[in-house]
Amino acid sequence: MQPEPETLTAEFNTLAHVARDPALELRKKAKRKALTVFLAGKLIELDTDNVKAYRNMYYCNSALEQDGQELKEATYCKNRLCAVCGAIKTANLINGYMPELKKMSDPIFLTLTIKAVEGRFLKTAINRMNATIRQIQKHLTKYHKVKLFGLRKLECNYNPKKNTYNPHYHFIIDGEAKAELLRKMWLQYNPTCDPRAQKAIPADMDTMIELFKYATKIIAKDGLIHALQIDVIYTALRHKRTIQSMGIKKQVDEDEREKVIYDHLAPDNTNWIWNQEATDWINQETGECLTGFTPDKELKLLFEQLRE
Ligand SMILES: [Zn+2]
Repeated sequence: MQPEPETLTAEFNTLAHVARDPALELRKKAKRKALTVFLAGKLIELDTDNVKAYRNMYYCNSALEQDGQELKEATYCKNRLCAVCGAIKTANLINGYMPELKKMSDPIFLTLTIKAVEGRFLKTAINRMNATIRQIQKHLTKYHKVKLFGLRKLECNYNPKKNTYNPHYHFIIDGEAKAELLRKMWLQYNPTCDPRAQKAIPADMDTMIELFKYATKIIAKDGLIHALQIDVIYTALRHKRTIQSMGIKKQVDEDEREKVIYDHLAPDNTNWIWNQEATDWINQETGECLTGFTPDKELKLLFEQLRE
């Protein structure tokens, strides 16, 4: 697993009542919002069948209503490409599944891949992967009396060097022998895939948290955003579950949002509207900025690339 570029690292929000570092949290949110608006703008320009979803994403969290020391968002787009919603989803998944994952005596992080595919074959390839993994799981229960406990996550990245796509699964599975069996069967069902890419390693906190992050990397290995290819992945993953639990239950609803108190804000009843030029939410009455976020060099460079 390659490390994600800093700009996309999903520092997950705390769901505690009082934000731990409210000023920092809001700056991080501004960064995610700025990135999402740029990406959405580029995706809207493509004018594909997904344009409506991208427009929703563009306006996600654009208006914040301050009620005392709370900030209420009118809209959450819940788009899987939205970094603002993604961070919330990641935090909720961690809260929901981590207690179960922590109970595992022998947690294994397993990666299963297929041979890279061209864009036009991606949707079919993912459908086939899903059918195969379901078949294997059924087979394991029926003939091996093996029930898998853990999580399965579907991800897909774009490889700009080869202009191909790499759909793959990450699993957290309890038990090395079970993970090995699954790996072996995957290779039987997918004889063309590289055995070395099917890796099983002991899972730790980091790998578990990694599992709850984005289903696709917005910034490719070359440090660029490839909107056209992101749209291909989005289309292929649309209406598909990317996180699937196996024999474990989520403890809280992932949509549950606890209210956050930003105790550094002066209590007020006012509205903040996103301004992409300022990369911040602006107070409609006073003109002041909410977070004080300023893009770093890396983010500015990325925005330059997107303007072209
Ligand atoms: Zn959103």
